[in-house]
Amino acid sequence: MRALRLTAWKTEPELVEVDEPTPGPGQVVVKIGGAGACHSDLHLMHDFEPGAVPWNPPFTLGHENAGWVHALGAGVTGLEIGQPVAVYGPWGCGTCARCRVGVDTYCENPAGAPVPGGGGGLGLDGGMAEYELVPAARHVVPLPEGLDPVLAAPLTDAGLTPYHAIRRSWSKLPPGSTAVVIGVGGLGHVGVQILKATTAARVIAVDNRDDALRLAEECGADLTLRSGERTAEEIRAATGGRGADVVLDFVGVDATLRTGAAAARTVGDLTIVGIGGGTLPVSFFSVPYEVSIQTTYWGSRPELIEVLDLGARGLVRPKTTTFRLDDAMTAYRMMQEGTLEGRAVIVP
Ligand code: NAD
Ligand code: ZN
Ligand code: ZN
Repeated sequence: MRALRLTAWKTEPELVEVDEPTPGPGQVVVKIGGAGACHSDLHLMHDFEPGAVPWNPPFTLGHENAGWVHALGAGVTGLEIGQPVAVYGPWGCGTCARCRVGVDTYCENPAGAPVPGGGGGLGLDGGMAEYELVPAARHVVPLPEGLDPVLAAPLTDAGLTPYHAIRRSWSKLPPGSTAVVIGVGGLGHVGVQILKATTAARVIAVDNRDDALRLAEECGADLTLRSGERTAEEIRAATGGRGADVVLDFVGVDATLRTGAAAARTVGDLTIVGIGGGTLPVSFFSVPYEVSIQTTYWGSRPELIEVLDLGARGLVRPKTTTFRLDDAMTAYRMMQEGTLEGRAVIVP
């Protein structure tokens, strides 16, 4: 089968021929119906030095995947060939306290995981191929009725990551509150929808592209703002001077972190999701009182089940553009140039 593989750090991936996987005991092979292209893949291609993460190329890209069960290894029960499924992407050891409750993202026994701190498309072969080998059946999550794999694929990361970040701040988003989404790309546009579907907060979306702000409006944003030096002031002006209860930064460069900190309300949350490499100096007087500054990484398996439910009920619907495997690099180039709307999904 053909697969889009990263063969070395700081190179572009190559479309090559590899063997079709066969499942060992407890494993599942998924026929890929959709593999989302995440901006993190661009960081993998361009930004990461050897040693930045505890795994290395070569591996097949694609860490947000959905499709159909293709083959079951010995001992796997509860799944049927042909059943539509999503793949939970972070693959931990399965036995530590975190993995046992479905929080493989923060596995505490990385030496016991198939790859330390990674998963398919992140150190092991991912979904930008016709088939993906999933090393444990617990990562294969049946799709709820009516959810197509092309829509389910982005929900496993572009949906799950903002959902986890937003859910963590739910208590700070009652009626009358304001949430700010900075960066309305693959993750951010789903983030706006999740805020609208699961909280009563007023949503302000910030981006430096007009197309992204239009998409934010389509997704239900109450106010959209161009990203710039005055954005924090504009957010304060729009909130009667109070500021935003929750800021979700899906970019994570110096400028957006600065905006987020300046726009936050006392006791608010500033959550850094984007891996833009920025830093934010923090001291007693640098942020409003009791603002919590936190990072989040992906989400848990129980949260994925909740996100898929939102997707199946039409409350959250990623805006997708599909590409063939041959055109995957076109999708990444468009993402880099800022000409992609929402999420690109590769359909092998
Ligand atoms: P994307 O390219 O689809 O979207 C990024 C958006 O940010 C674009 O709309 C772009 O116009 C906008 N943007 C860029 N610079 C901006 C600025 N200065 N101000 C305002 N908007 C700006 O990317 P994505 O796939 O949504 O990923 C977003 C980030 O999140 C990436 O850094 C990615 O690596 C990271 N990520 C993190 C996690 C996690 O678990 N923490 C998971 C997935 C992705
Ligand atoms: Zn990702
Ligand atoms: Zn574990």
